[in-house]
Amino acid sequence: MIIWGSRGVTSIKARTRFICPVCQCESACDHKRVRRFFTLYFIPIIPLGTHSEYVECKKCGKAFEPEALAHDPAAAGREMQAMIEFVFLRAMTMTMCADGNLHESQIARIREAYQATTSEELPEEALQGEMKDTLRLSADASAGLIEQYAAPMNNEGREAVFRAAMVVAEADGDVSAEEMAVLMTIGQALGMTAAHMQGIVMSRRAETEATEA
Ligand SMILES: [Zn+2]
Repeated sequence: MIIWGSRGVTSIKARTRFICPVCQCESACDHKRVRRFFTLYFIPIIPLGTHSEYVECKKCGKAFEPEALAHDPAAAGREMQAMIEFVFLRAMTMTMCADGNLHESQIARIREAYQATTSEELPEEALQGEMKDTLRLSADASAGLIEQYAAPMNNEGREAVFRAAMVVAEADGDVSAEEMAVLMTIGQALGMTAAHMQGIVMSRRAETEATEA
């Protein structure tokens, strides 16, 4: 009698290295391919069209989807940092540009805040570009970007952005009506309630008065 069937034959497509999601470090891995073969007397003789691929970590032996080869936690971290920087910078530039008066003291606050969050000096070009973009876009358009990029931030982060924007608004001596309106737009984009924003504004006012007294 003729014995026929099909079975999967595993071959190594590539030996490479990747950041193993389980080991959380760089490790050697095999990029494997499983191909189904038509078998005769248990011997694979005809490759069938279907195949699947996976990546196997040599350290922990776990298998992952081939997408794991491109997994780069450091790149994800850098991307996240760039998003956070953008949110801070845009919120502060928005309040600075709110009433059309760009004060040297406001620019100084932005530089300080940037340095405090990133431990790097804000490049002049980046600041100029940011100001140009902010003046070109409507407050709503900028708020839309803030809303989008702030999505992964938690409440503390969002509050810190709001506070940073407020410090810039105060830096020219007073918070004008235009600056306050923009602050509220920013807070809304950050998902804060009016009561929450009011609370921060009040406590900030009390702090400033206490320092002045
Ligand atoms: Zn592993």
